[in-house]
Amino acid sequence: MNKFIVADPRECIGCHACEVACVVAHNHHLWPEERSAFIPRIQVAFQGASSVAVTCRHCNDAPCVTSCPVDALQFGDGEIKLVEQRCIGCKNCLVACPFGAIKMVSRPDRTAAAQKCDLCGHQAAPACVANCPTQALHLLDGPTLAALRHQRQRRTVCGDDQPNTAPGLAARLLDKPARQGALKIDAAQRKTHFQEIYRGLEAERAGAESRRCLYCAQKAWCNWTCPLHNAIPDFIRLVDQGDILAAAELCHQTSTLPEICGRVCPQDRLCEGACTLKSRSGAVTIGNLERYITDTAFEMGWRPAIGAVTPRAEKVAIIGAGPAGLGCADILARAGIQAEVFDRHPEIGGLLTFGIPPFKLDKALMAHRRDIFSTMGIRFHLNCEIGRDVLFSELMVHYDAVFLATGTYGFLQAGLAHEDAPGVVQALPFLIASTREVKGLDEDRRYPWINVRGKNVVVLGGGDTAMDCLRTAIRREAASVTCAYRRDEASMPGSKKEVLNAREEGVEFLFNVQPQHIQRDRKGRVNGIRLIRTQPGEPGPDGRRRPQPVKGSEFVQPADVLIMALGFRPHAMPWLDRYAIKRDEWGLIKTGGSARLATRTSQRKVFAGGDAVHGADLVVTAMAAGRQAARDILTMLDQQPTKLKAMQEAL
Ligand SMILES: Cc1cc2nc3c(=O)[nH]c(=O)nc-3n(C[C@H](O)[C@H](O)[C@H](O)COP(=O)(O)OP(=O)(O)OC[C@H]3O[C@@H](n4cnc5c(N)ncnc54)[C@H](O)[C@@H]3O)c2cc1C
Ligand code: SF4
Repeated sequence: MNKFIVADPRECIGCHACEVACVVAHNHHLWPEERSAFIPRIQVAFQGASSVAVTCRHCNDAPCVTSCPVDALQFGDGEIKLVEQRCIGCKNCLVACPFGAIKMVSRPDRTAAAQKCDLCGHQAAPACVANCPTQALHLLDGPTLAALRHQRQRRTVCGDDQPNTAPGLAARLLDKPARQGALKIDAAQRKTHFQEIYRGLEAERAGAESRRCLYCAQKAWCNWTCPLHNAIPDFIRLVDQGDILAAAELCHQTSTLPEICGRVCPQDRLCEGACTLKSRSGAVTIGNLERYITDTAFEMGWRPAIGAVTPRAEKVAIIGAGPAGLGCADILARAGIQAEVFDRHPEIGGLLTFGIPPFKLDKALMAHRRDIFSTMGIRFHLNCEIGRDVLFSELMVHYDAVFLATGTYGFLQAGLAHEDAPGVVQALPFLIASTREVKGLDEDRRYPWINVRGKNVVVLGGGDTAMDCLRTAIRREAASVTCAYRRDEASMPGSKKEVLNAREEGVEFLFNVQPQHIQRDRKGRVNGIRLIRTQPGEPGPDGRRRPQPVKGSEFVQPADVLIMALGFRPHAMPWLDRYAIKRDEWGLIKTGGSARLATRTSQRKVFAGGDAVHGADLVVTAMAAGRQAARDILTMLDQQPTKLKAMQEAL
């Protein structure tokens, strides 16, 4: 008799814990480094509100075995085994399997091979069965099947063959009160100031939210989906137990700035989007809890513990004090390396300080963090631009490694005539000037103050940057504030939460419109933007339908200030050329490649990460890249010849 895993659909809650357990068990009990390497051998299938896990049945007379032309699939010891070395990637088994339980995966030599459930032959029991929170998965073998048969026969003989209708563990687990997120300041009030619009959770609400968490597994779907793999179920459990300091320690094991991510991450498409309760009583408010833990710990006087760090002789220069640079500096400092961060701005944070507006992120938070980082031994060289105030070559001479975390500061253009007309402004300088004013800093000629009071403001673009410009213009008392976006609302790339906030604050939206022409007054100043209505056309290479202009639908939208929020591209860094640091066709810094550390550039001791490598993205992904770079730098330093290391240590 063969062995196989079955799932009870009545007890499956669709939490994906089995998939996560499977991948981790087959990856030396670690998270895979790449998202693309997350290929579980079991998969949760959904139909409406129901779900069930599907995996290999190790069928008798298995069609996969009989279809394999090279005997790579064989029956033995009661299961179907795959001899991977024999597999030629022909996909016959894939077609033959009636359960869709076989997948093709890439091998290191880039050839394809079949992958299927191996019943975790390398460990005592299948990981999926051991980690299912509702015991919906069972490993059946000959004796268990026989016992089950006898049990059912007995029930039939005794006339007790009615199905059990008592609510199972799944139903009891899923019975939770509705989500209660952070309270938001009323739109009429919040649009008069630049303070954060969300209040922190109160202790009672944080406790109630933490008790809603199902604790699907220690390694759950939410912490796989979080780019930092935060230990979400564990830190939520600590909130429930009232141990905020332990929760803060845990948050800092995987994150450099948990209070920031808790505020600005688009949780709806990351951790909270993966919460099992999302489509039921609403996802647990993971971001709010992360913020609550760190804010409360700080109020209690908590500081990261670094007392036990042994200082090392090596020094690393980090260019850019954004989330990537800070993530790198944090890990290096904790490993005893002297991390020195250079940034052209007068405060750390990168776009956290000079980009994301204060109503989303209180600027006092970064000043507080600077204090903490400085006590950890990180040195900041602010108002210092590499390539102007300090030469890159100096860093190459004086430091053991250099990390490039320079972000992307080139602006995408609309390709219209008169984009340089007075009144046409780029999103980022507009936001930076506004933030500098809120922070009480002097005006910087690179980011001149733009007065929109009493004016008609139109913002071109539909992402988070566009929303930030619109909501800043509202707070700067513009007469009207309009967002013009070329697709429909459902296609907007940014966070839905921010679109809702903008609308509540009085922003008008024009969807399915494309800019045609910047209209100017007699003095050459912008006074309107000619738009044409669009309808969805054929899908483009990205699968999204391309907007097609509708003939004769042009109209002029009055605009005294036209803000271009069309996205970012890498800025020029000619000083990298002397060291032959490779960039791709868009100007993004190239890292990794075969047999190289993931964040290493084409120069041995230069590493890079964040927006400068993967393009404009998110705070959390930049931070994850910076932390990875620090680990790669440590690997490189540890591999250096011992003699050289001894000389450095003697210095
Ligand atoms: C308006 C706006 C709103 C956003 N909102 C969100 C949001 O709500 N949530 C979210 O997750 N993400 C958001 N993002 C994206 C997020 O801020 C970025 O993805 C993230 O900050 C990138 O981090 P980074 O460290 O790679 O680069 P950055 O944050 O850009 O930091 C790079 C730093 O390098 C410095 N630098 C560059 N060149 C030099 C040089 N030669 N010498 C010295 N210093 C240099 C820059 O001054 C800067 O401080 C937003 C972005 C913008 C523009
Ligand atoms: S870092 Fe972002 S994605 Fe990860 S748990 Fe926190 S809020 Fe969620």
